[in-house]
Amino acid sequence: MGGTERGVVPVQLAIGFDFDHTLGIDNKLERVAFLRLLEQLIFAGGKAIGTLDEETAHIDDLLAQQRSGAFPIDEAVERFCKPRLPHTDVHPYIQAYKKFALESVDYFVVPLPGVRALLQELRRSGVRTAILTNGWSPLQERKAARVGFEGPVVVSERVGVQKPEKTAFAALVAALGVPLSDAWYVGDNPATDVAGSIAAGLRGIWLDAELVTYPSDLPKPNVVIHSLNELVDLLPGATTPA
Ligand SMILES: [Mg+2]
Repeated sequence: MGGTERGVVPVQLAIGFDFDHTLGIDNKLERVAFLRLLEQLIFAGGKAIGTLDEETAHIDDLLAQQRSGAFPIDEAVERFCKPRLPHTDVHPYIQAYKKFALESVDYFVVPLPGVRALLQELRRSGVRTAILTNGWSPLQERKAARVGFEGPVVVSERVGVQKPEKTAFAALVAALGVPLSDAWYVGDNPATDVAGSIAAGLRGIWLDAELVTYPSDLPKPNVVIHSLNELVDLLPGATTPA
């Protein structure tokens, strides 16, 4: 690891962050929004098509597909509604889902320990920051604001590509406004965050807050940290390989 003296930070250094399980957790906010939707559908004359556990598994699958870019959130809600309340206009349900999800952010989303202090220190040091996250834009933007993040939020839905695609990281680097060689990326997911960012030419930092085993078949992270507090100590070593 580089030196530990603080104060000399290359002005062009910039850090991109993943959001979920890196800056904040959302406590299954979207799963709950879908379960609320199910409640509304049943109230309107529809029906569940499985046990609650089966419905929950189906919801998680829909959300995973949506986050991977298979279809937008509107279609995820439509796919959920159609078999449970056929022959109806799903548009009000799409709006109801989004409203509930957005309004739930303040209650559900919790910053990871150290986030606000880290962001404050990065601002003080002149380090540019941005978020690159897979998901639907208004929700991810609101989650970012909830943890006190003030920089650009690059969301897969808006840029049309998801992590680990190189073009998603290129959109992040463009938002950061620095040369590729000065961009770091911090995330918890070895495949989409670490391997993805390294393949795209960034410096990949793995946040291993849950002490899991890193997959042996993926490129190793440039740096491993176990809490966000450790990131600040890396700043002076920005030009020194770990
Ligand atoms: Mg994550």
